Amino acid sequence: MIKSHILGFPRMGLQRELKFALERHWRDEISEQELEECGAMLRRRHWAQQRDAGLDCVTVGDFAFYDHVANHIQLFGCEPARFGFSGAESALARYFTLARGVASESQHEDACHHAHGVGKPALEMTKWFDTNYHYLVPEFDDATRFSLASARLLGEVAEATAMGHRVKPVLLGPLTFLWLGKSRTAGFDKLALLDQLLPAYIALLSQLKAAGAGWVQIDEPILGLDLPGEWALAFERTYHMLNTAQLPIMLATYFSPLQEHLSLACKLPVAGLHIDLVRAGEELLSVLDWLPPHKVLSLGVLDGRNIWRADLDKALRLLAPVVARRGQQLWIAPSCSLLHVPLSLSDDAAIDDELRSWLAGAADKLAELRILQRAINDGEDSVAVELLAARSAIAARAASPRVTNPVVTQRAAQLAPGIDRRNSSFGARRAGQQARLALPLFPTTTIGSFPQTAAIRAARAAYKRKELSDDAYELAMRAEIAHAVRQQEELGIDVLVHGEAERNDMVEYFGEQLDGFAFTANGWVQSYGSRCVKPPVLFGDVSRPAAMTVRWTAYAQSLTSRPMKGMLTGPVTILQWSFVRDDQARSATAQQIALAIRDEVLDLEAAGIGIVQIDEPAIREGLPLRRVRWNDYLQWSGRAFRIAASGVADDTQVHTHMCYAEFNDILPEIAAMDADVITIETSRSDMELLRGFGSFRYPNEIGPGVYDIHSPQVPSVDAIVRLMKKAAEVIPAANLWVNPDCGLKTRAWPETQAALRNMVAAAHRLRGEA
Ligand code: GLN
Ligand code: ZN
Repeated sequence: MIKSHILGFPRMGLQRELKFALERHWRDEISEQELEECGAMLRRRHWAQQRDAGLDCVTVGDFAFYDHVANHIQLFGCEPARFGFSGAESALARYFTLARGVASESQHEDACHHAHGVGKPALEMTKWFDTNYHYLVPEFDDATRFSLASARLLGEVAEATAMGHRVKPVLLGPLTFLWLGKSRTAGFDKLALLDQLLPAYIALLSQLKAAGAGWVQIDEPILGLDLPGEWALAFERTYHMLNTAQLPIMLATYFSPLQEHLSLACKLPVAGLHIDLVRAGEELLSVLDWLPPHKVLSLGVLDGRNIWRADLDKALRLLAPVVARRGQQLWIAPSCSLLHVPLSLSDDAAIDDELRSWLAGAADKLAELRILQRAINDGEDSVAVELLAARSAIAARAASPRVTNPVVTQRAAQLAPGIDRRNSSFGARRAGQQARLALPLFPTTTIGSFPQTAAIRAARAAYKRKELSDDAYELAMRAEIAHAVRQQEELGIDVLVHGEAERNDMVEYFGEQLDGFAFTANGWVQSYGSRCVKPPVLFGDVSRPAAMTVRWTAYAQSLTSRPMKGMLTGPVTILQWSFVRDDQARSATAQQIALAIRDEVLDLEAAGIGIVQIDEPAIREGLPLRRVRWNDYLQWSGRAFRIAASGVADDTQVHTHMCYAEFNDILPEIAAMDADVITIETSRSDMELLRGFGSFRYPNEIGPGVYDIHSPQVPSVDAIVRLMKKAAEVIPAANLWVNPDCGLKTRAWPETQAALRNMVAAAHRLRGEA
């Protein structure tokens, strides 16, 4: 008999109950106790779903009021001293202070950034491996001490046990926990904390065992990363120690192949090993050879990162020989925690029946797991009806004319060899652009969006609800555009933008107008804290039925004699922030999007727009977890960008924009994208980020962000001049632009005007001194 389990489940609830309870609690509308009750209700419901799906145990410890890494910070008593807690605060109040900071009136939520406290900055947030989930970064230094400091997990185990569930608690492994943290003091080696941390883990494991847990799942996803030798070496001794608690450990790995850590993972003194067959399927045979037969093998057969209904026949074919070899010692599971998929899609109101029958959210994946388990344990006849339904859905999807568009496939097959190259080198293009645009030294521009006021959002929402007619909406948006253009002219900005008033979200806006995308009503996925995103579903060949942005941009251009910059989202970012097809390579999907964007670029150019910006803030985050896979990704993602950008004449200027990220290790590839101008977020690094571009001798023009758009603070002229002078130390002044770090949609107009006025004044001063 094989068993089934999951590594984790979404927390928010089907109606995002947790989000709304959290936000009410933060507004002081409900008490801690009411919030706790909401959490308990959700856990009860989700455990019952797991039991009803026939899982052999429920997973406990995956729930969090904000973030599971933050839970571990409290669990192991390492809240950073800088928060200066008096001891009078409740644990939950401290938890939210870690997560949100103090005096946090400047918190903003936008696609690429997160909250910043003012008085006491919140813990930093960063992406959880290669997902769009953000965790709170633990802070470590040599004063960090660990202890078993929270009874929350044990309380949840007791809750589940009282409901009659068989319980498998889940913990982040000690090495992954340390790895995810940051050293507060330069040069401090986090790994030095391990010996101190392990006793707290051992104490916890003993208590979990005493509380009746039969297993504990310990997640060490860092086994899928390129690890420094001493980190890999630390695993053996760590798990020897943890084993002393005598609670069987299921060591969970996911997101990435184990490669050189595979034999280590198989040899560790633990009772079971979980591997991600979706991301590391090629390692199954080695694991079967190397994992001792007495150990349990947990196979992540269902895709925990994507929303497609599984091919159960294929899964059964894959499992059959493993069942024959390992019989009793086999568990099946989704590849990773289901945190990364929506709770349910099988009854989503916005999706048509056909498409819906191809999708599976977390709850649907529980049902799939159940079918697989019964097919193996009781024979396929016992689930013949379910298998048939799955089979016909898979076949229907594969054969559907909605998925394949012959025009798109033909175009892909016939691409001209030079489609991803501009006609001339940057050096040759530059003169034509200068002649056409006649820009001063240190030209000023913005990144695209202007404040999304309540009025703008109300108009968009009313239009969506069909309460506003096409004409009325058009007029309202034109008025916003005219307003933004007027403001920019008054401020004296050199290259204008239309302000993006008509856009809800930089990916959704394009997805809605492209063929091949669908949008769910309730497909929410947690991004951080109470914040959820609803990624588009890219289900079919992508094409562009009509121009998407031209009328807005052309209207904006008609209002001014200054150059108007057209504003598009790049193919890699659209890919990265959507759920994409699993029936073709990501590179092929990216290329389809690229061709659609290319057509839009050309339409903008034909409408007289001389500058087009193609935003790619997600290029960096798409990098594979393993360095050996970087090159392949950088090749196809760079090519996708260039396909989108390269159709234009030499004197049309292409910009790209990327948000805060380390670029230094991918500078050759960024340069190879060959945008005429790149704008990046640099102010928070005090221009340090630019040094790499300088020593690399980045050939094209750069706009390093001169102020942080996350804060309402208005940068002074002096501060901007200082930053630009610092920039000019490493980049030739003739190559520099002056712009904010990112779009201004989360800001209000008064601070925006004040900041941009200073920015323009700084540019004037720089020109005067040049
Ligand atoms: N053009 C977009 C804006 O200004 C860019 C946003 C982003 O980089 N995430 O809002
Ligand atoms: Zn940005």
